[in-house]
Amino acid sequence: MTQSGTTSKEELTGACLCGAVRITVAGAYDPRPGACHCRMCQRWSGGLFLCFEAQPEAVTVTGEVARFRSSAFAERAFCPACGSHLWMRDGEGAYDLMPGLFDEMRSAPLRSEIYVDQAMAAVQLKGDHPTATRAVYEAKNNFVEGDA
Ligand SMILES: [Zn+2]
Ligand SMILES: [Zn+2]
Repeated sequence: MTQSGTTSKEELTGACLCGAVRITVAGAYDPRPGACHCRMCQRWSGGLFLCFEAQPEAVTVTGEVARFRSSAFAERAFCPACGSHLWMRDGEGAYDLMPGLFDEMRSAPLRSEIYVDQAMAAVQLKGDHPTATRAVYEAKNNFVEGDA
């Protein structure tokens, strides 16, 4: 999900709803969240999935984390106490972190939007950010066959 061009060095500290999991992001990361409307992300997020990318060396996590392997290539992590979603990650690659955990991310603009043709009627985003339909995205990226 990398679309380079913007990086930040500001340190971010985030927490889940109950506070048991804390995440610090220190180092280069893209401070703009991207949106995904694929069927898996709709099920997991409840509607609109947002994440921003940070390299593994920039991310420090404390507290117990539960992981669900949602596909052959990706895991989705959450707090086992309160259920807050924490990140999605392909193998040992970059973290796609949930922006809502971090106060600073509330003012971050949208980076991009994928699976736009699959978006729920209630979640139609406006703006001139880059977008990709399911067909365009799946032509260039890993994806899960079927339920998307
Ligand atoms: Zn929690
Ligand atoms: Zn998705």
